[in-house]
Amino acid sequence: MHADIVVLPGDGIGPEVTAAAVEVLRAVGRRYGHAFGFHEHLIGGAAIDATGEPLPAATLEAARRADAVLLGAVGGPKWSDPKAAVRPEQGLLAIRKALGLYANLRPVAPHPAALGASPVKPHLLTGVDLMVVRELTGGIYFGEKTRTATTASDLCEYDVGEIERVVRRACTLARSRRGKLTSVDKANVLETSRLWRETTTRVVAREFPDIQLEHQLVDSMAMHLLSRPREYDVIVTENMFGDILTDEASMLAGSLGLLPSASLGEVARHAGAARDATDGSRSATIGLYEPIHGSAPDIAGRGIANPYAAILSGALLLRHSLGLEDEADCIEKAVSAVLDAGVFTADLAASGRAVSTREATEAVIEQLQ
Ligand code: ATP
Ligand code: MG
Repeated sequence: MHADIVVLPGDGIGPEVTAAAVEVLRAVGRRYGHAFGFHEHLIGGAAIDATGEPLPAATLEAARRADAVLLGAVGGPKWSDPKAAVRPEQGLLAIRKALGLYANLRPVAPHPAALGASPVKPHLLTGVDLMVVRELTGGIYFGEKTRTATTASDLCEYDVGEIERVVRRACTLARSRRGKLTSVDKANVLETSRLWRETTTRVVAREFPDIQLEHQLVDSMAMHLLSRPREYDVIVTENMFGDILTDEASMLAGSLGLLPSASLGEVARHAGAARDATDGSRSATIGLYEPIHGSAPDIAGRGIANPYAAILSGALLLRHSLGLEDEADCIEKAVSAVLDAGVFTADLAASGRAVSTREATEAVIEQLQ
């Protein structure tokens, strides 16, 4: 397969961890005979410095034409003046919106070697393997905002189509996993949540009768995520609830440096969509892949950042945008193997020797088979 991947290193440790992910993707490409082309573009603070804009037109244009986008992180103290007219984070919001990336996936499966790093008791974490699917382009974050001196309001709006498409995506994922879907809302209070619940129930009954669906109120979900995380498979929810629950879920895994994410849009129909070399068919989904951690300015430029979250984001890219399931598994198994072997960067190494970003990356490449 030939595929074009746009790489947006961004700021802080972003360039260090994306370089690691690209190296691993190249190695997997060689191993399986794929020709991946990597094209670097500017975003965030680096883009502001070079062009004055957090998302230059050339970057967006390249992303639209690409088969997938791999991103590092944006932001840092240099651009954090709250009075500044342009900020690095605007670049990230703008690209998500422009590419129509409505489904944000965050898999959380704490690795046995890293259980001690979580604030949750290890016996509750054994066997946890869940995926949060957060609606990313609707709801209260995008509704009309009004403000007077003494009142303020944010409108929360969803239409059936927005709910259906993200629920379908979650159901498809559940089908490839353990077949269980937990839909989270606040249907006892919110009208949008009642529409969410009705729509979810209908989509599952009509299109995914094999999926086991349960509804949960967001407040009880917040509790159960910590008290019985093992019971969940795929969790689907609206934008703001998902924002909060995914941060909470990330604590199950211990280090930020281990968690990848995927933000997915519609199935690609553009001319450059990844084509299978044999039959020319297109199976691609437009997607943006990034570690969930930020730019970590405190450790940037020292070569000690944990590259695993970025490398695992590369695995999600292969799976969801290029349809390369075996290749994705191969990366995930390699990361798991190096964790088993105790190849820890400083964030994971409680005591003992910590390896550098480069050593960790080389260890993963050595394990690819
Ligand atoms: P953002 O607002 O961009 O999400 P943040 O303020 O949440 O950023 P991060 O940049 O994610 O914070 O960093 C939080 C802490 O975690 C920092 O101390 C950072 O050094 C550490 N950290 C984050 N990512 C990594 C990584 N890949 N490897 C090692 N340490 C990391
Ligand atoms: Mg953060």
